[in-house]
Amino acid sequence: MDQADARRRPASHVPTVRYLCEHMFVHVGPTILHADLDAFFASVEQRDDPRLRARPVIVGGGVVLAASYEARACGVKSAMSGARARRLCPQAIVVRPRWDAYVEASREVRAIFDRTSPIVECISIDEAFLDVTGMERIAGSAEQIARTLRSTVQSQVGLPISVGVASTKVVAKLASGMAKPNGLLVVAPGTEIAFLHPLPVGKLWGVGAATAEKLHRAGLHTVADLARAGEPALVAAIGRAAGRHLYAVAHNRVVRPVRSGRGRRSLGSQRALGWPGTAPGELEPVLAALVDRVTRRTRRAGLAGRTVVLRMRFEDFTRATRSRTMHRATASTEPVLATARTLLAAAQPFIDGRPLTLLGLTLTNLERDSGQLALALERRDRAALDGALDEIRERFGPGTVSRAAYVDSDDSLAAWLMPGDGAPTGAGLGPRAGPGP
Ligand SMILES: [Mg+2]
Repeated sequence: MDQADARRRPASHVPTVRYLCEHMFVHVGPTILHADLDAFFASVEQRDDPRLRARPVIVGGGVVLAASYEARACGVKSAMSGARARRLCPQAIVVRPRWDAYVEASREVRAIFDRTSPIVECISIDEAFLDVTGMERIAGSAEQIARTLRSTVQSQVGLPISVGVASTKVVAKLASGMAKPNGLLVVAPGTEIAFLHPLPVGKLWGVGAATAEKLHRAGLHTVADLARAGEPALVAAIGRAAGRHLYAVAHNRVVRPVRSGRGRRSLGSQRALGWPGTAPGELEPVLAALVDRVTRRTRRAGLAGRTVVLRMRFEDFTRATRSRTMHRATASTEPVLATARTLLAAAQPFIDGRPLTLLGLTLTNLERDSGQLALALERRDRAALDGALDEIRERFGPGTVSRAAYVDSDDSLAAWLMPGDGAPTGAGLGPRAGPGP
């Protein structure tokens, strides 16, 4: 039947309509992998020294940094004291940590993650979330991607890695934990609640011994108990933020995207102000210098930020912050400066009459900069200007170029606005510290 025939059929003829629409409306929920190396440091030691294989291995003497699964079988856990671990497992071989080897292995695994998916959020040296949504056609089902990932890490780096697959980060992380050691667990869409509810509350991310104890005292032992108890009961037991969060988790309503570039959460710079003048005209060049520095460092790191935070400290040591989130992440000087100016203008009535001793600017909500977006939405000359200024300042020093608007500023101001780049200066200085000699 061709489309013209289909159109002539009555609209109520559902099978035909469905036939036509089948390939247009395919619902694709997110598919997230949580990949976690097993007993990471201990596995690296067993990989590099055949005598350690299949034997209980403890990394770290004073405190257990990692324990092989053979040592865990005796009850040894990480963060346990070395003395206690040796009592539990006298036959264990205790080795010193070799950080270089762990960092190198972590880098190699990270490279495999990056080849597996364009969206990778590393949350520690040995675990990451990968968003593989919509990759079926190029890489196969999520389960196939996870299998390939596991075998690639094993064959190329020589380490066991467990993977959980689910529609949310919370469930994917729980699944990888349950797949250990060296396993794979897929929680199919629609089965998340059935998977979550029988679990003891202590299994949930962020529920430590203290929180678990409070929940137990309230008669809440499983995730199903949390779901049934209702939000007010959870808030009463463990506080507002944690209660609301756990209630949402129990109903699998915590849907957070996998965010690449999470390695750094913010980039900032600040300046101590040594004079009481806080008129808009006097703060403006300070603000512009802060924005220049922060955006330059953001670009150098290949990142972009969405939220601009303005931080202020006053002579009486009170502090205030103002923030605004832009509609998209950027590392360009101009939009960040415009946002920072808006924040400063809005804070001006609050600043008036109070000597300001420190001004700081932070760019947060960082993500990896996708240059394409910036080029598509932004005038090319802006990006080119930022790039050229970065290059000049990198080669000849940060003080080489300044904004024409500030050329007439007072000399002492110009001198300390553009000192050598590096760690933010002025942090922790007294209220009157500032330009100085
Ligand atoms: Mg691990």
